Amino acid sequence: MSYDVAIIGAGPAGSAAAYRLADAGARVLLLDKATFPRDKPCGGGVTGRAARLLPFSIEPVVEDVADRLECGLRYRQRITRQARAPLAYMTQRRRLDHFLLQQAADAGAEVRQGETADARELDARIVIGADGCNGASAKQLGLADRVAHGVALEANYPYERRYAGAMVLEIAVIRGGYGWIFPKGDHINVGVGGNGEEAPKLRAELRRMCEEYGIDPDAAQETRGYRLPMRLPGTRLARGTTAVIGDAAGLVDPLSGDGMYEAFYSAKLVAEAALEVLAGRAENLDPYQAGVERRIAPLTRAGWSAKRAFERFPRTTYALARLPVTFRALAKLLEGDLPHPAAARGGELAAIRAIYAVSRAAAAAAGTTGSRSAASS
Ligand SMILES: Cc1cc2nc3c(=O)[nH]c(=O)nc-3n(C[C@H](O)[C@H](O)[C@H](O)COP(=O)(O)OP(=O)(O)OC[C@H]3O[C@@H](n4cnc5c(N)ncnc54)[C@H](O)[C@@H]3O)c2cc1C
Repeated sequence: MSYDVAIIGAGPAGSAAAYRLADAGARVLLLDKATFPRDKPCGGGVTGRAARLLPFSIEPVVEDVADRLECGLRYRQRITRQARAPLAYMTQRRRLDHFLLQQAADAGAEVRQGETADARELDARIVIGADGCNGASAKQLGLADRVAHGVALEANYPYERRYAGAMVLEIAVIRGGYGWIFPKGDHINVGVGGNGEEAPKLRAELRRMCEEYGIDPDAAQETRGYRLPMRLPGTRLARGTTAVIGDAAGLVDPLSGDGMYEAFYSAKLVAEAALEVLAGRAENLDPYQAGVERRIAPLTRAGWSAKRAFERFPRTTYALARLPVTFRALAKLLEGDLPHPAAARGGELAAIRAIYAVSRAAAAAAGTTGSRSAASS
């Protein structure tokens, strides 16, 4: 049987796209090499803005809701900020991804598990690669060839009530990144991540993060490392009636390392573009690429910029980031009330601009300018 759309990979990106397309009446094939429920190394923090992008609630798989940010700079200068709305819904990927897959199947997508697919060999009008950062679809389709990689290591530890409702971040413990503690229903998830070349330091830094927070490092379970793909400006994500989304497209945020918002957003954009093709109103998926440049790229640019500021001048940038006015802007971003930092207003915009000024100073100090250099830093 021939399909309207074949999607390789049933992570957050693939299942969200499959749901939208099947729900709109398309004949959709969703393939994954794994059998669900399966896990994926991830903090499992679904930001408020990410959750808002889904056409259904993820409440059945939410284990905690973080509305409090506890943040430090290299284990000093810790601050606590309380948000008015959820910053992130805490889940486990084995539960979330299975739930999303079931939503896609219930909407009418044909789901095949335990099947490894080649993007060049699928019998469908439209082929979408959603096979994550280790998938082969981008290469097979000649897409997303300019992507930088970060790296992260995480593990689960026994539950501690004190972390309930909190998102704990420890900035600059790793170059180009941070450490985190995220609460789950019956355990806490602790991780560290940063620039790719920091990989050899991750194990020691994860241990240190635990020790600094009074968590027994030897109680670690399921310690896992994984890459974080970050697209460089202008990288092509669609050609003809093929496209890549989510991590396969390198859409992880360079500053936060989050990728589920971008996975859900790229799924939405590609589904809209695919439905136009199927309806005969468009010939190709170019509008998807245009949508990414308009809706996601401004956030990615802001991420590169802030990342550069934190890397080069961590104390100055942290001093700006810990201002209550900056937290208000950050909370709006995470909740989905602000599309990107430059859209802030008043004092919040002034604080954001100050961070950009630090970023420009960092670029000047490094003898580079613009977001391209930030991207390659
Ligand atoms: C340590 C760590 C912590 C993170 N924490 C967060 C966080 O807290 N919040 C957040 O928003 N983001 C986080 N991220 C990023 C987030 O995990 C990814 O951005 C997200 O998983 C991207 O979803 P995806 O659907 O694009 O890809 P994936 O989730 O990687 O799914 C890809 C799917 O494709 C399948 N596949 C691969 N190859 C094939 C093939 N040939 N044929 C068939 N199927 C195939 C795989 O089995 C998999 O199911 C974190 C990442 C890391 C590494």
